[in-house]
Amino acid sequence: MAARRPKDRTVVKLEVVADVPDRAMVIFAHPDDAEIGSGGVVARWVSAGCEVTYVLCTNGGAGTADRSLSPEQLAERRAAEQRAAADFMGVKHLVMLGYPDGGLEDSREFRADLVRAIRAHRPHTVFAHDPYRIRSFQHRDHRVAGIVTTDAVYPFARDHLHFPEQVTDEGLEPHKVRELWYWGPDEPDVIVDVTYSIDKQIAALVRHESQVPGLNVASGQTIEQRMKKGAAELAKGYGFTYGAAFRRLIARR
Ligand SMILES: [Zn+2]
Repeated sequence: MAARRPKDRTVVKLEVVADVPDRAMVIFAHPDDAEIGSGGVVARWVSAGCEVTYVLCTNGGAGTADRSLSPEQLAERRAAEQRAAADFMGVKHLVMLGYPDGGLEDSREFRADLVRAIRAHRPHTVFAHDPYRIRSFQHRDHRVAGIVTTDAVYPFARDHLHFPEQVTDEGLEPHKVRELWYWGPDEPDVIVDVTYSIDKQIAALVRHESQVPGLNVASGQTIEQRMKKGAAELAKGYGFTYGAAFRRLIARR
């Protein structure tokens, strides 16, 4: 079956998506995950008029090898970096939930927070970590954020009898998300041409100055070279230079 051979690009053709929704949301575990995961598409969509909301789940307070920094100092610094990156990307709203780094749980409280953000900002498309990736290591927070986002999108944000107090007390209406896009999937099924937005993605990513030394870059290679190499490989055969691939779920009408 062709779909089981994702590495063989001559067999599997990803669907090229050029449509831009009116509103999108990126739900991510740590500062810099959004830029890495969906930055190329978000930059392209923002320039086409899409209103984007970022939902940052943790404070990133564990993301350093520098032992002189306290978790509080680091969290403060990372919040500022995320604000700078979001502003640079043209992201309209930035929601910071402030859970401890490494501390995300599949809890009612976290699910309620994501449902509230979805009902308040009403995205057509939500981007998230793929929680079902099994072919490589994945941070626990990424897995948990991906699972809880999936549940928040469907059915919790959609149905008024889930978290009804948000509807009655907070004035939020239920909201049906149309598409859920996972970044980092084992088996992507859609691809977006990011040839003209990848530079913006990379420039936003390096706003996370505290993380740049830790980003997985082979020695002798810059972040830009590494990201462009991967994006160029994905784009092979599609008629554009750089691509970003996702696994997409579409809500039934
Ligand atoms: Zn992360």
